[in-house]
Amino acid sequence: MAIWGDYHTHTRYSHGTGTVEQNVQEAIKKGLKEIAITDHGFRHVMFNVRRSVFDKVIKEVEEARKKYPQINIYLGLETNLVSRNGGIDLMESDLPMLDMVVCGYHKLVKSDFFADYWKIFIPNMFESITKTSSLRVKNRNTDMYLRAIERHDIDILSHPNNGINADVIEVGKACKYYGTYMELNGKGNYMTDKELETLIGMGVQFIADSDAHEPERIGEISKPLEIIERVGIPYEQIANWEKLPKFRSRIKKKLYE
Ligand SMILES: [Zn+2]
Ligand SMILES: [Zn+2]
Repeated sequence: MAIWGDYHTHTRYSHGTGTVEQNVQEAIKKGLKEIAITDHGFRHVMFNVRRSVFDKVIKEVEEARKKYPQINIYLGLETNLVSRNGGIDLMESDLPMLDMVVCGYHKLVKSDFFADYWKIFIPNMFESITKTSSLRVKNRNTDMYLRAIERHDIDILSHPNNGINADVIEVGKACKYYGTYMELNGKGNYMTDKELETLIGMGVQFIADSDAHEPERIGEISKPLEIIERVGIPYEQIANWEKLPKFRSRIKKKLYE
């Protein structure tokens, strides 16, 4: 396989259909060296992994590690942007139990502030439905992304601009500066070719993930592949292309030699 790891996969704990073990088995079958289990963050309204069951997820990951030593299994979370000030649904005390952090914008989340529903979530939903955009909302969205990337050690920004209209070039600058990978998502792309070309020129690092919700889709990156070929993303700018990524949060924890 062209990619050596898939770092965005869901299980039945959050909108997925498989178990941790099934995701891991499929990753092995596809020849991956690494997989991350990244269920939806705690404050997604519909698909969140519940805090009360997270101990079970941890246990399943630990068991899978013992049973399948041939693959590196990361436990992560696909956290949600929850407030304009860059807040995400992860507490400082959650960090030790996680190996890495994915973060993305999702529309149905519990925000910290009532005002943020009116400033961010409702306008974004309105603009997605009506296919309109306003600079005021775009600036707020961009600001929210930038503050989140600055405030938290986000390893992967999942599906940038999905359901939200931000200035992805500014977001890309922050990702490059802080060492966050911009995801080429297996389910869809929300950046224009022109934006991608600019991001490539800036030296942004991407990562291709499946965002699999079914075990069979682990390692499925045909959509990212099509973009990589069409836009001409150099393989050295894809962090998991025939190599293993080095995650920002793990660099900080000094987990690499
Ligand atoms: Zn997502
Ligand atoms: Zn996802």
